[in-house]
Amino acid sequence: MSARVLLLGGTGDALRIARALGPEHVYSLAGLGRVPADLHCAVRVGGFGGAEGLARYLADEHIALVLDATHPYAAQISANAARACEQTKLPYWALRRAPWQPQPGDDWRKVDDWAGVIDAIKPFSRVLFTLGREPLAHLGEVPVHQHWTVRCLDAHPGHARAQVIDARGPFTPEGERALFDAGRYDVIVSKNSGGAATEAKLLVAREMGLPVVMMQRPSLPPAQREFAAVQDVLDALAAFAGINQRNIDA
Ligand code: NAP
Repeated sequence: MSARVLLLGGTGDALRIARALGPEHVYSLAGLGRVPADLHCAVRVGGFGGAEGLARYLADEHIALVLDATHPYAAQISANAARACEQTKLPYWALRRAPWQPQPGDDWRKVDDWAGVIDAIKPFSRVLFTLGREPLAHLGEVPVHQHWTVRCLDAHPGHARAQVIDARGPFTPEGERALFDAGRYDVIVSKNSGGAATEAKLLVAREMGLPVVMMQRPSLPPAQREFAAVQDVLDALAAFAGINQRNIDA
């Protein structure tokens, strides 16, 4: 029996790691997205009840290592995990995908929060939001001179000046070109998620000369070991927990 790992997920990278884990390990999801049914490891869904709840869970379940592969904007669960590991004296490892960097021809407007987004999009009329569900809570606040398109995982009826597209990446440049042409957007709003799955929108914005309002990353707690790529995590896990890598869906 290898040392028991708790993998905190909710991203494509986390799912790739989860596919390599055997039945003694646990893959944890907040419960907002799809729950995979074809994994060898245990899957648990829902919050732990803050850092204290997570610390209790770690002790009760005899976890030996917490691996944080959550999204870089999921700052609360990362802070909780770091604190719970400190309390329980467990190692805290994190997969931290490198952020995208602006390329020649990019017109990025960097903002820190939702208020910054609203301010930055003021000059524009046709806005494409690609940063998750947050705009859904603000659909009653669409300024009269704007039309919003919100692409996220949730289906939602929208209204006359707000359309919601429920779609899940990866997205291709061809698909993004077709979407941008049809929507006639004059600004794109994005998080700096990094990775290839949702990068095509940046390429197409560059081609079309469209500005991108880029919400900056929140600060995340330091981890004992930080990895930039799934394969590096798998190699480290193999050494730590004796995890067999044959099941990886690369
Ligand atoms: P968050 O603000 O950091 O976390 C909110 C609460 O959700 C946490 O305090 C925790 O509840 C619970 N939670 C989050 N991730 C969990 C996990 N993997 N397992 C168990 N409980 C979890 O997170 P968020 O931004 O709402 O994101 C939620 C999930 O969606 C994360 O798993 C993240 O990886 C994924 N996701 C987020 C984004 C994004 O842009 N934020 C994008 C793609 C995917 P308790 O305090 O009760 O433990």
